[in-house]
Amino acid sequence: MQTTATLSPCPLLIGGEWINPNIATTPVFNPSTGELIANCPVGGKVEVDAAVEAAADAFPAWAQTPAIERARIFFRYRQLIEANFDRLCVAVSREHGKTLAEARGSVYRGLENIEYACGIPSLLMGDTLEIARGVDCETSHQPLGVCVGITPFNFPIMVPLWMFPVAIACGNTYVLKPSEKVPLGAVMLAELLIEAGLPKGVFNLVHGGRESVEALLTHPKVKAISFVGSTPIAKYIYETGTKHGKRVQANGGAKNYIVIMPDADVPKTVEALATAAFGCAGERCMAGSTALTVGVAAERLLPSLVEAAKNIRVGPTDRKNQPDMGPVITAQHRDRVVELVSKGEQEGAKIICDGRGVKVPDAPKGFYVGATIVDQVAAEMTIAREEVFGPVLNVMRMDDLDHAIELANKSSFGNGAAIFTNSGFAAREFRYRVKAGMVGINVGVPATMAMFPFTGWDESFYGDLHIQGREGVQFFTQQKVVSTRWFGGNAADVWRK
Ligand code: NAD
Repeated sequence: MQTTATLSPCPLLIGGEWINPNIATTPVFNPSTGELIANCPVGGKVEVDAAVEAAADAFPAWAQTPAIERARIFFRYRQLIEANFDRLCVAVSREHGKTLAEARGSVYRGLENIEYACGIPSLLMGDTLEIARGVDCETSHQPLGVCVGITPFNFPIMVPLWMFPVAIACGNTYVLKPSEKVPLGAVMLAELLIEAGLPKGVFNLVHGGRESVEALLTHPKVKAISFVGSTPIAKYIYETGTKHGKRVQANGGAKNYIVIMPDADVPKTVEALATAAFGCAGERCMAGSTALTVGVAAERLLPSLVEAAKNIRVGPTDRKNQPDMGPVITAQHRDRVVELVSKGEQEGAKIICDGRGVKVPDAPKGFYVGATIVDQVAAEMTIAREEVFGPVLNVMRMDDLDHAIELANKSSFGNGAAIFTNSGFAAREFRYRVKAGMVGINVGVPATMAMFPFTGWDESFYGDLHIQGREGVQFFTQQKVVSTRWFGGNAADVWRK
């Protein structure tokens, strides 16, 4: 254990002031080593009230700041993120355990949302039409007020960036509550917002868990809530937030199927499948966690897939010599992943690549699970139904494409689905019939980028307007339609000249 002197500070940002409240804390670990790296304050109603009041006070002036000026702050912010890129990636790697390459990918995905927010003057432009003789009608988009973001542990920088740049560029003020397991990346994002020149109180940062979330969900001055996390909490956030009169967009968990047709290109599919299942140690809502092999696809693919999985080097991500895969987030989460795999074995599945009990001699206290492949999984098994959120790939054998689509469509989740095939017909059948919001055709992780909405379905999303893209702009604004008539004169005269 480190001494408190070496721990990273984890302050709140309220009304432009950094605050270190004297309240209870929860430990933040470096999952690569199991070391304590910070103590995250567990805020509640007092801290949330102060942050929401600061955001509410800052709102009138910020809402009246022209969109072009608001965008300029995000142009500066973009440059600062780029200038601090390596530092941010190291921070993501340290508190989450992603490899540096994965951290870079995730920070880039976040950066693209800032770039999207820089286009806000064009995105906010309304429509206009002369709707009757002498009467004009026009739409405009106005901000809502105080918006809130509640984010998960698995993308400490990217997921907050899905939310606040567009919300703030639209003229709203903001309170972010990051995951208490990874609060440090959010502190860096806040520092850079100040450096970019964002006025005090426009962005505020609180920390904590259930108690702070409860206070945000019920605060009368909060107008909108964006949430990303597990399904039970997403459902609770949606129900409680809407009951209290707020707009809510709540992304939940997932169980994503990848259909492998008998004609799929073996080397390319193996590579994509290994990345989809084991990238970020499987801690991605778009992880391809179940392969549905059709006909002979299993025999064609599995030997090289098992070889690829066995070659994945697991290790600490906070060193110069980077591994292929890092740890999972906590010791408890590692134990849950291992337990689910063991339960699958007890229920009749076959472990054909076993990452349980993987040894990492240079980081013996880290939270590691090696790449694991569980074959002959049946639909009723626990491992087939629950989101594992670890480096575990289930394999289920299917007779044909219809059978695979039917099985995928029985899932209560609807985040992503993919197919690997050389048949245009199979791909077309799949894209139209599969019940999932993001579909990949020979793309293993069809996660959308900033300009497209992140379109989970069913228990992967609660709400109406998704995060990112134009739907994000709609979520953070309310539309006004103005009809205008001016009396006197005769506009028709102009055409006579
Ligand atoms: P989580 O639901 O445990 O936590 C998410 C947030 O909710 C955190 O800020 C946490 O502090 C808060 N929270 C946790 N328990 C709470 C409670 N009882 N009451 C109120 N607030 C609570 O999720 P996680 O473990 O941090 O993240 C992993 C989950 O997120 C996975 O299920 C993953 O699929 C999902 N996820 C979904 C997407 C998506 O876009 N659909 C993206 C990333 C992650």
